[in-house]
Amino acid sequence: MKKRIALLGATGSIGKSSVDIILRDKENFEVVLLAARSSREKLDELSKLFPSAVCVLTEEKDGTQKLLSAISNVKADITINGISGAAGFQPSLAAIESGSHLALANKETIVMAGKLAVRLAKEKNVNIIPVDSEHSAIFHLLRYFAAHNTGAVSEIILTASGGPFRNLSLQEMEKVTAQDALSHPTWKMGQKITIDSASMANKGLEVIEANVFFNTPVDKIKTVIHPQSIVHSMIRLCNGAVYAQLSKPDMRNPIHDAIYYPETTPLTLEPLDFDSLTLEFSKPDTEKFPMLKLAYEAAKLGCLYPCAYNATNETAVTAFLERKIGFLDIPRITESVLQADWNCSKIDKDTVLNADKNARQRAFSYL
Ligand code: NAD
Ligand code: MG
Repeated sequence: MKKRIALLGATGSIGKSSVDIILRDKENFEVVLLAARSSREKLDELSKLFPSAVCVLTEEKDGTQKLLSAISNVKADITINGISGAAGFQPSLAAIESGSHLALANKETIVMAGKLAVRLAKEKNVNIIPVDSEHSAIFHLLRYFAAHNTGAVSEIILTASGGPFRNLSLQEMEKVTAQDALSHPTWKMGQKITIDSASMANKGLEVIEANVFFNTPVDKIKTVIHPQSIVHSMIRLCNGAVYAQLSKPDMRNPIHDAIYYPETTPLTLEPLDFDSLTLEFSKPDTEKFPMLKLAYEAAKLGCLYPCAYNATNETAVTAFLERKIGFLDIPRITESVLQADWNCSKIDKDTVLNADKNARQRAFSYL
């Protein structure tokens, strides 16, 4: 029986890597749903490759509602969520509710309401398998090395490329443009995540993601700068041993691992060449990258703080891309919005969507 796949965010960077992996094994995979916000031409191209897939374009009238219904109707075996930003949250929940496993690139889902998603997945007896390269690395390291004794893990160490501004001073960072921020040194990704990498909000989101996903307190999640993006992340065990996962920076690796999970199957990509490999590590500078510090604080406070962090960042990033604010206004605005009270008595879909909306309104008022 072929595994039936729903591919959300099919026209983006994760979408493209997913298509490459799926086409390598047409015997075992069939795409039943293709969704994107844009564009019709790109989606038509993809539907030639996967003629039996239902196609949904959310920029069209009632697109979001159509997408949520399509996810419920197709009941895929596995859903790859490569939608960017908070727009990925409801599709993730709809996929889990339909009984589909979730290969999750959309980290925003976990940041906004990770506990809710994880609880729902348990109820529905489906897996959420991380596709974010760091979390994929940790997920598989935990199952290979700590499967029988999760208490043995003393620390999760997330690696970060440090982005294009790693060596700039704060004064220099004040003046950087969207174009400067969009040239990432190691990864080729969508615009939003590329700006997040430059501000280290991406690593901030990933700290929150790891906190929820691996049920690990934030003070046991460390971040280390590693400019080559070869070591995808590490776990330190209580005996001091550190286990790392290494490969070339290529999202096809974690996508492959997620859609074949729990099997480990062959994948032929260009192998790592140890003859010409230099690996460097250093400490991140949270004075220069306050988005990282703010994420640790939001994760500690819990409740709707991570959701507010995410919504504010997304609003500020859009404004930065539209050249309405400077680069360092992103952390300034985020810090201001996080001053509000984001505590809550319960987290359900509506409280999360409300907090997301509120935080965006507050962020707008600072623009
Ligand atoms: P991208 O901008 O290249 O692609 C985003 C895709 O989502 C596009 O197909 C777009 O049309 C679609 N989309 C946007 N809004 C939508 C909506 N409302 N409804 C339906 N579709 C919508 O982004 P990307 O780089 O592929 O990143 C996607 C997600 O994966 C993000 O959450 C990102 O953080 C995560 N991620 C990406 C990478 C990477 O290497 N690109 C690595 C790790 C995690
Ligand atoms: Mg990542």
